[in-house]
Amino acid sequence: MVTVDIDPGSGFCGGVIRAISRAERFLDGEDHLFSLGAIVHNEAELDRLGAEGLRTVASLSDVPESETVLIRAHGEPPATYDEARRRGLTVIDCTCPVVLKLQEHIREAYARLHAGGLHGTLLIFGKIGHAEVLGLLGQVGGDAIVVEDRAMLETVLPRIDFSEPVEIFSQTTKSPSEYAEICARVRSLGSRVTVHDTICAQVANRHEHLAAFALAHDILLFVAGEASSNGKVLFDLCRGVNPRTWRIGSPRDIDPAWFRAEPDGADGASAELRVGVCGATSTPKWLLEAVADAVRHT
Ligand code: SF4
Repeated sequence: MVTVDIDPGSGFCGGVIRAISRAERFLDGEDHLFSLGAIVHNEAELDRLGAEGLRTVASLSDVPESETVLIRAHGEPPATYDEARRRGLTVIDCTCPVVLKLQEHIREAYARLHAGGLHGTLLIFGKIGHAEVLGLLGQVGGDAIVVEDRAMLETVLPRIDFSEPVEIFSQTTKSPSEYAEICARVRSLGSRVTVHDTICAQVANRHEHLAAFALAHDILLFVAGEASSNGKVLFDLCRGVNPRTWRIGSPRDIDPAWFRAEPDGADGASAELRVGVCGATSTPKWLLEAVADAVRHT
């Protein structure tokens, strides 16, 4: 017998909910709206919004003059706003308030690191090329070092002068435990290191909660879009706790073999098989429900 639970903590974060509801409000009265980059890293939700008139563009130059463009929750560097103004575009700014605060803190840290002849270093733990990280770099003219993981940190350490101040920030959706490791390593190298706790509280809480959810189920279906960076982090966390975790994009990706009995009965085929369905901050609730329904009918 199979029972299916949907993780109550999975689904869109506040920043994504806010951006999507603003897009939908606009599209109530208009037949189209341009979004600079994918409003959410989830193909199924993008298809749904595309049918309502949301057109995703890779660059502002793809938006015709005097049109309206939405800036998503990840935020953008100041140069984007300058270009939009130059081209006469109307901007619906959906930068998440948490990201806006982080951008402000990074500008302030940069000013501190270079005040009175200092030559300090700004370090960002984030994914190179990710929109949020590009937005952060834009606040300081690109003058920061970005590291994606502990191994990359080791390669950049020789470039950092630890006799000068160093300040560290994290992209909002990174893993709290990896960030703690990175900060501990940098702190061990100098006494002028300041660590900023900038992982989004909604993401940090999910890490703790998801690990318990993964442990409480025999099989886990982790639903996330290919491009979701938060999806990768949370999937890795679930897989680390429960090796029978599968990452899928939609109900179509479910393999019935995952639920079949193993010869030794180790998967509890004769007893109850507990399947957990969870996802990233970019996974819509309706998609989690569709996956759960598909499992019940497998
Ligand atoms: S993860 Fe947090 S910071 Fe990032 S968009 Fe969502 S609510 Fe905002």
